[in-house]
Amino acid sequence: MWASTKSFLGSLTKEKLIGYFLILWGASFFFEAIVGFIEASYSYVGARAIASNYLGVLIDLIYLAIAAVLALLGLKFLGINISTAAPPTAAPPTAAPPTAAPPTAAPPTVRTAKFCRYCGKELPSDAVNFCPNCGGKIQ
Ligand SMILES: [Zn+2]
Repeated sequence: MWASTKSFLGSLTKEKLIGYFLILWGASFFFEAIVGFIEASYSYVGARAIASNYLGVLIDLIYLAIAAVLALLGLKFLGINISTAAPPTAAPPTAAPPTAAPPTAAPPTVRTAKFCRYCGKELPSDAVNFCPNCGGKIQ
């Protein structure tokens, strides 16, 4: 019996305790507001009573708001998501396709080394009309 109580206490996280506390706190405000509404429904004679009633209703409305906020807060602490709003669907970053087209590798200038047809020496790429070695005409 005690052991189970102990484990129960152990399972209570700080957040859960705060959550229960907030919900109970909110409930107290809620019921206070309900009582206030019931009381306000009784009409009293006299300006003072009427003013008090109006203010009372105002306070009751605030109490209701506080109750709602506290309850929501408590539920949040308990990890209960009651928000009707669609969860923030973490839209995957639209990974833009690598638009960077691979650089159209210019075909390597095939430098077919030319050789002099007379002497066989390799000719420099710069256009020469005559072989620098033997002077033979290059066509
Ligand atoms: Zn030559």
